Amino acid sequence: MNENLATLLLCAAVLGVPLLLYVRNLKRRDAEARAAIERGKIHSGGPTAQHPHIDAAYCIGCRTCTTVCPEGDVLAMIGGKAVIVNGYKCIGHGICAEVCPVGAITMVMAKPSVGAEMPALTTEYETSQENMFIVGELGGLALIKNAVNQGRDCIDTITQRLSASGAARRPEVYDVVIVGAGPAGISASLRATENKLSYLTIERDELGGTVAKYPRQKLVMTSPVEFPMYGKFTKRELSKESLLEFWQTVLHRADFKVRTGEGVDEIRKGDDGIFNVVTKQGQYRAQAVVLAIGRTGTPRKLGVPGEELGKVMYRLIEADHYINKQILVVGGGDSAIEAAMGLGNQTGNKVSLSYRKSEFSRIKERNRIRIEESIRQGKVTVIYNSMPIEIRPDAVVLEVAGETRELQNDFVWVFAGGTPPNDFLKKVGVQLGEKDFTLEGAKEKQDADRARATLSQAS
Ligand SMILES: Cc1cc2nc3c(=O)[nH]c(=O)nc-3n(C[C@H](O)[C@H](O)[C@H](O)COP(=O)(O)OP(=O)(O)OC[C@H]3O[C@@H](n4cnc5c(N)ncnc54)[C@H](O)[C@@H]3O)c2cc1C
Repeated sequence: MNENLATLLLCAAVLGVPLLLYVRNLKRRDAEARAAIERGKIHSGGPTAQHPHIDAAYCIGCRTCTTVCPEGDVLAMIGGKAVIVNGYKCIGHGICAEVCPVGAITMVMAKPSVGAEMPALTTEYETSQENMFIVGELGGLALIKNAVNQGRDCIDTITQRLSASGAARRPEVYDVVIVGAGPAGISASLRATENKLSYLTIERDELGGTVAKYPRQKLVMTSPVEFPMYGKFTKRELSKESLLEFWQTVLHRADFKVRTGEGVDEIRKGDDGIFNVVTKQGQYRAQAVVLAIGRTGTPRKLGVPGEELGKVMYRLIEADHYINKQILVVGGGDSAIEAAMGLGNQTGNKVSLSYRKSEFSRIKERNRIRIEESIRQGKVTVIYNSMPIEIRPDAVVLEVAGETRELQNDFVWVFAGGTPPNDFLKKVGVQLGEKDFTLEGAKEKQDADRARATLSQAS
């Protein structure tokens, strides 16, 4: 072989092999994306709440967004552009939007047709009732960082309105009453302190909201967020206990005014525009009201005989309090799966998980992997296509694919979701699902900003 030919072959190998691998990799990713789309079609009709909106005209196909999502394959690249393939998995981290180098992604809410049961809100989180606001998960956006951001920003709006109105402050009327002391309500309360508003926070249960009800030592994932009365909170992972302790410390420093164990039953607006917030213990007057009551509502029940027995529960906090027990967990979402795995890890427990469908369809990718491992290790037995039809003191009766099966049982946990507080919202005059101001406002603003930027570049 002459020397030139050898060099030519070497060059071809050096350039050709990586090119071949690159093309093969592209094809594999394309095939994976298409498979993800098919899975998405099976499990969902599309995003049900907040999700990324990708402006294809700006997407440069860099793939950054597809690699950062903690929930897995929400986005994929098809034809060189990012597209949503599993919108139902999105819980609003928004990291894809943060990392997009060209700003082609914005987080938006579901279309009003999907979010028909969600309250209609303006971009300032105001409801159809003037000066009544909704922040946090109740407005449709999950995650602690979103709740903190919205609680803080909403109080800034109220502060601006109060100072713009120039009306004299009345000692018997609070500037704002905040309902709920989860992350959104805590953030709003701290900002109210910072902004020197007179406020009262009313919480029907305990401080911390849904976070306080997470299982013990649950690892909470969060993102850097500006926390009122503290500054930048930069932790990305910490235990539920550490997060609650952090809030307690800041709240203590701020002389937090909260009435716990007091639920708000009604809110009426007088002709003078002042709200009357009614609980069983009292009535409180306020210029503005912030509803930060989450969407958990009341746990949905199975409605089967025996459900009133004391061994039936709807929340699990201390899994390690239960050992050597026969346990049934009911449900197919992340909460049910996490509870089943937590209980399955305790000594001597025999845990069965009853789910009415033939496969888990709406769970986080990491839970899917972990539950498969638990099943393999014999820690959890999943009974698909099943539902409890009776609960007895020492047993449960399931209907499994049309047949009856009895299991020995000490405890039952039901995770069938909650009834969102929509009746409460209607009662206090909040309109549901009419118009998604938030989405359209944000999108229009972004388009306008882009148009302005393009014009200024052109001139
Ligand atoms: C199992 C689980 C794990 C999660 N893990 C994470 C995570 O790792 N990272 C993350 O960012 N997010 C996580 N989330 C989501 C996060 O917990 C919620 O998005 C967040 O708590 C919402 O905050 P919120 O203040 O809007 O509502 P909530 O936290 O639900 O608080 C609402 C509060 O309002 C009170 N309330 C309700 N009605 C009334 C009434 N009528 N009167 C007075 N008070 C009332 C409730 O008692 C409650 O304390 C998780 C959620 C669950 C269920």
